[in-house]
Amino acid sequence: MTENADLQSVLDRAAAGGRITPEEALELYRSAPLHALGQAADAVRRRRYGSIAHIATYIIERNINYTNSCVTACKFCAFYAPPKSDKVWTRPLEDILRRCAETVELGGTQIMFQGGHHPDYGVEYYEEHFSAIKKAFPQLVIHSLGASEIEHMSRISGVSAEEAIRRIHAAGLDSFAGAGAELLPARPRTAIAPLKESGERWLEIMEIAHSLGVESTSTMLMGTGETNAERIEHLRMIRDVQDRTGGFRAFIPYTYQPENNHLKGRTQATIFEYLRMIAIARLFLDNVAHIQGSWLTVGKEAGQLSLHYGADDLGSVMLEENVVSSAGARHRSNRMELIDLIRKAGRVPAQRATTYEHLLVHDDPANDPVDDRVVSHISSTAIEGGTAHPELKLIDAG
Ligand code: SF4
Repeated sequence: MTENADLQSVLDRAAAGGRITPEEALELYRSAPLHALGQAADAVRRRRYGSIAHIATYIIERNINYTNSCVTACKFCAFYAPPKSDKVWTRPLEDILRRCAETVELGGTQIMFQGGHHPDYGVEYYEEHFSAIKKAFPQLVIHSLGASEIEHMSRISGVSAEEAIRRIHAAGLDSFAGAGAELLPARPRTAIAPLKESGERWLEIMEIAHSLGVESTSTMLMGTGETNAERIEHLRMIRDVQDRTGGFRAFIPYTYQPENNHLKGRTQATIFEYLRMIAIARLFLDNVAHIQGSWLTVGKEAGQLSLHYGADDLGSVMLEENVVSSAGARHRSNRMELIDLIRKAGRVPAQRATTYEHLLVHDDPANDPVDDRVVSHISSTAIEGGTAHPELKLIDAG
């Protein structure tokens, strides 16, 4: 049997729903023809979604950044400021609540509370903020934070990770956004985030969360110098935990943005590598339901293509984003455009909830939403003066 025939038989097995090994995934990722890889991944997506496979989803959400003060100093990060720096800012609770109110007004259903590892913010800070948000806006889902924040806040408060998760869940956290996964294998993780917890610890905390009924998504930061084998190892680590917990709702790879950080000059992941990753994730992560395309970091056309390489979701209209835009992501969109992009990629668009239920299926263009204020903003803090819609009344961080 030739090498190509071997590759084809692995691809056929994966497309038919069979489990592939990490070694086989690496071989496919390296060597399978791009279109064949995409076709196999799309076959798996179609089988998984059956009668609703013609739909691709999006969500309306807002990232709310509560502080940029951070003791962890990841080398790829363009958002943080060291705690003693005069660039540090924190957002008062009333400002956070106003941003939540705007999110509700614009039809947003989810907030991502996102910030640095502030040296003074323990469990109590998050309890106070989440309970205030839930009290004022019970309809908003708090899909936020990740294992890194849990590790940090539990250390500040002197409690276990389990207690920290229980308490912030009781205060209002609905699910974890899976931030801080970056790259889970030790070598690339230490190279870009030497002060972050290990990949094993990140997964251990997610596993604790899942056992407490707090589900999460999982992410991967591509393109900071990691090898193909390390990318596949990242997927293996997630799949192994998922076999035990089933708590990862989605996998979201996104590409490193090279501006304003200490890794400047490293090679970014190409669109080609990104699409191969979307496809291999759909094939390898046979136990994760949703694979998300990220138009924000790879652009709209690559986002559309991802829907043909195994992705079933195109991310969000992000009413505010400050983190990846600080590092150079400049793609902007709005709800009407996102609906149009999905439709022109050959799918029926649907607005979804955090838990992926369809809230509104846009099956008739005549009934499309027309509110032109539902726009993805690159940020009130990432760019001097911001690009915020005036009606949103976003304020400068200063
Ligand atoms: S990625 Fe997060 S933890 Fe790392 S420096 Fe930036 S804000 Fe801090």
